[in-house]
Amino acid sequence: MSNIQRPLDPESKPDDRVDNALRPERMKDLIGQDQVKENLSILIAAARKRGEALDHVLFYGPPGLGKTTLAHVLANEMDVNVKVTAGPVIERAGDLAAILTNLRAGDVLFIDEVHRLGRAVEEVLYPAMEDFALDIVIGKGPSARSIRLKLPRFTIVGATTRLALVTAPLRARFGAVYRLDYYDLNAMQAIVTRAAGMLKVEAEKDGIIEMASRARGTPRVALRLLRRVRDFAQVRADGVITKNVAKEALDLLQVDSLGLDDVDRRVLKTIIEKYSGGPVGLNTIAASISEEQDTIMDVVEPYLLQLGFLDRTPQGRVATKSAYDHLGFVYTENGQARLL
Ligand code: ADP
Repeated sequence: MSNIQRPLDPESKPDDRVDNALRPERMKDLIGQDQVKENLSILIAAARKRGEALDHVLFYGPPGLGKTTLAHVLANEMDVNVKVTAGPVIERAGDLAAILTNLRAGDVLFIDEVHRLGRAVEEVLYPAMEDFALDIVIGKGPSARSIRLKLPRFTIVGATTRLALVTAPLRARFGAVYRLDYYDLNAMQAIVTRAAGMLKVEAEKDGIIEMASRARGTPRVALRLLRRVRDFAQVRADGVITKNVAKEALDLLQVDSLGLDDVDRRVLKTIIEKYSGGPVGLNTIAASISEEQDTIMDVVEPYLLQLGFLDRTPQGRVATKSAYDHLGFVYTENGQARLL
C-alpha cells in the first residue's frame, strides 16, 4: 500500500496534535450522536449519585467517529484521570498488571483496538474487570501458588472497529456497549463550523456545507479536509473558504460529491469492471487494487454499505445499481460494465 496520506483515511493520524486541540472535552461540547450521549449522561449521573466508578463501557464503529474523544469526555465528566493504551501495545499479561496496579480509584483506562488483545492478557483482564482483582502466580511447578491482589475500582473504556472480533467473554464484561454511527449533515456542519472557529479560519456557510457533505460522516475526515481546504484557500485564494474554493480544493484532492476518494472508487470499479459487478471476495478485491484488507473492511466498506453502493452476500461483495449510476456505468442484468 502506498504511504501517501489519503485525504479521507480516518485511520492515519499525522495531524493528531491539531485534532487533540480540537477534541471536545465535555459532554456539552460533543456534537451529534444524541442517543449515545443521552445514555452516557444517565450512566454518569447514576454513577456520580452512588459515588461509584463508572461501569465498563465499550464503543464500536468505524475509525474517526469519536471513540477516543468519548473516553476522555467520560473521564472529564467523572473528574478522574484517563490512561490511554491499545490492544496491540499490551503484549504480555505482566504489562497489563503493571498498568492496572497503577490505576487509582475511579480512573478510566482507555483501551483502543480492544479486539487485538492477546489471549493471555484477556485472561488477566476478566477478573480485573469483574472482581477488581489480579491473580498472580508465584513460583513454578508444584510449589506455585496464586495470590489475589485487590485493585481499586476503575473503569475500562474499550474501543473497536470490529465488534465481531471481540471475544464473547470480554464483551460480556462491559456493562454498556454503544455503537457510533456516521454523523448526519447537520452534525457535520456544526463540527466543521466549530473547528473553523477554533482554527480561526474564515469560512462561508456554503463552503462549510461543501466540506461537511464530502467528509463521509466522519469528524476526523472533516477536520482533515478543513485543513487541506484552508491551505488551498491561503495559497490559491484570499484565505476565505467560499463554496467555490472548497469545491476546487476538494476536487483537487479527488474527493467527490459524496465523499468517495480514489480508493473507494477503485474498489467499486474493480467489482464492476473486472468481476461484472460481483459477487467477489474481499481478499480478491484487496489484491486487485493492492490495498490492505483491513483498510477496505474498516474504512471503505462501511461507508459504501451505508451509501447503498455495496451489498454483502455470502458469496462476496456485489456493486449495486446506485454504484453503477454514481460512477457513470450502465447497469445491465448480467453486470457487464459499460460507461455511459
Ligand atoms: P476514534 O477514536 O473513533 O477513531 P476520535 O475520538 O479520535 O475517533 O475522533 C477524531 C477527531 O474527531 C477528534 O480529534 C475530535 O476532534 C473529532 N470529533 C470526534 N467526535 C466529535 C464530536 N462528536 N464533536 C466534535 N468533534 C468530534
